[in-house]
Amino acid sequence: MAVNTQQYLTIIKELTDQGVQLIAVSKTKPNEDIQALYELGHRDFGENYVQELVDKQASLPLDINWHFIGHLQSNKVKYIAPFVYLIHGVDSEKLLQEINKQGVKQNRIIDCLLQIHIATEETKFGFDGPALHELLLSGRVADYSHVRIRGLMGMASFSENQQLLSQEFTTLKNYFDKAKIAFPNGQFEILSMGMSSDYALAISKGSNMIRIGSLLFGARNYTK
Ligand SMILES: *Cc1c(COP(=O)(O)O)cnc(C)c1O
Repeated sequence: MAVNTQQYLTIIKELTDQGVQLIAVSKTKPNEDIQALYELGHRDFGENYVQELVDKQASLPLDINWHFIGHLQSNKVKYIAPFVYLIHGVDSEKLLQEINKQGVKQNRIIDCLLQIHIATEETKFGFDGPALHELLLSGRVADYSHVRIRGLMGMASFSENQQLLSQEFTTLKNYFDKAKIAFPNGQFEILSMGMSSDYALAISKGSNMIRIGSLLFGARNYTK
């Protein structure tokens, strides 16, 4: 199945009215699908796998804003550092250091979101509340001259329990409001939370950037 352009137009209208940004998550999907949304004017796409992102970036229009939304290994930062628009999943200080190092090499400042662990599952990555607090209070972030922390990102539990999801989004929003105080220059303004199944709830809890894949591109097939 190809892209659901009607769905895209409906969502984009809804979001524009609310001042929320849409990241179209195109992982595992072919270039034609990305091109189809590009032709409708969409520029922000999200990918999870470094090699796939590098290949797509090389063959698609240069004015696409590529968001890396997956778990990023330090040894792979160098491949995306030349062009990545926003790294959503910065889940350790070690990774932050490496992104800074590659930013220096590329002579560019790389925008990042700190990933916060809000889900009940152990498998999701991210800082917990105390670690975030410690990092921001330490002042060490200011030493990373080639990284700009633009906000926070989180993934809620894989669950249909609305109350649980609602709590998790609220927790993240509270971290966001608190962390914002550490960045009086206004750079810290992005709260990336919400996916196909829970974006409306995430927006109601204060999200201003959502990451939508299957709703736009159809279900993913990982077996191919
Ligand atoms: C795959 C993915 C999404 C999109 O998921 P859908 O349920 O298809 O909308 C969003 N965020 C992250 C981090 C992802 O890995």
